[in-house]
Amino acid sequence: QVKNGDVVVVDGRDGHVLINPDAETQSAYRKLQREFFDLKDALAENRDQPAMSADGQAVQLLANINSVADARAAQAMGASGIGLFRTEYLFLTHPSVPDEEEQLAAYREIIAASPQHQVTIRTLDLGGDKTTPYLGHAREANPFLGWRSIRLSFEHPEFFATQLRAILRAAAPEPEYLPRVQMMFPMITTLEELRRVRAMVDKEIRHLQDQGKPFGPVKLGLMVEVPAAAIAIDMLLDEVDFVSIGTNDLVQYLMAADRDNPRVNHLCQPLSPAVLRVLSNVIREANARQKPVTVCGEMAGSPLEAMTLIGLGLRSVSMAPASIGPIKAMILSLNAEKVTDCVESLLKEGAKDVRANLLKFAENEGVEIDH
Ligand code: PEP
Ligand code: MG
Repeated sequence: QVKNGDVVVVDGRDGHVLINPDAETQSAYRKLQREFFDLKDALAENRDQPAMSADGQAVQLLANINSVADARAAQAMGASGIGLFRTEYLFLTHPSVPDEEEQLAAYREIIAASPQHQVTIRTLDLGGDKTTPYLGHAREANPFLGWRSIRLSFEHPEFFATQLRAILRAAAPEPEYLPRVQMMFPMITTLEELRRVRAMVDKEIRHLQDQGKPFGPVKLGLMVEVPAAAIAIDMLLDEVDFVSIGTNDLVQYLMAADRDNPRVNHLCQPLSPAVLRVLSNVIREANARQKPVTVCGEMAGSPLEAMTLIGLGLRSVSMAPASIGPIKAMILSLNAEKVTDCVESLLKEGAKDVRANLLKFAENEGVEIDH
């Protein structure tokens, strides 16, 4: 419908696109745009301040990235590390499977753009909504329940092993060495899968040793995105160094509502009681075993939802670089103990409108959730 010369407004807050809006709407959006830039400048002022709640609880703010440009943006926004590097973009923008050296160069570039920081590289997460011609992807009736992510990687051991080696090599000691590269696996559903992937990593370590190629120690993590993994998390935690909760997928699977289908999108509510119960279980079990736990789904970048996660005991969140300023502003204005009491009592009482109660809490306590 759009022609050259049309005026288009992209409202990224609500996901709306307006084509040739009237003069009044245009001027309202121009005002909003100016306010947004002012806000961005104001928030950038807290860039070097630690993300610490008003009652002294430190929260780790990490960034989700797809590229080296994103890694630089994360650094500029004051992220304290990379919580999720989605490696599939490297594959989606490449005409064929990138080989080990190409992958190694790409990972090294990201690591170099994040000096002294932890970098968490996620192995390939294709399938579902992201397909590549070279992996022979057939149409499936339910792609999100089908052959995607780690399931696909297992069936392509030749390129999965290549990726594992490239990540291990990217973690090799550097000047002023600090072990800081982590690897995590998407869509893990069962303990058997986790053991299988660990065995593959061990095999590639032996392979690199035989070849005499340098590699580094890499912590291994599990992405909690499948309800089965979230419910049985106590059985999986012993096998990993850390966990990261992928709420975009976890919410769609818990609510049986496709995350990309606007007709059922109203069901994808991270603050619904069912989701919060499951999140509470994962965070509690991980904290009890002193295993680092992060949320890297979109909810971590929404101030109200991130506030709720802190109330559930989470102390690490990973988000788009642009969300770091607003989330830090929220944390600086938050009393972590009070939000914990609030969230715990809402869960215990079985409050039906959790969102309304949390909004009221934020308003009464002066928590900055409006950015
Ligand atoms: C998630 O599912 O929450 C996640 C972070 O992974 P992606 O959005 O890439 O599926
Ligand atoms: Mg996911």
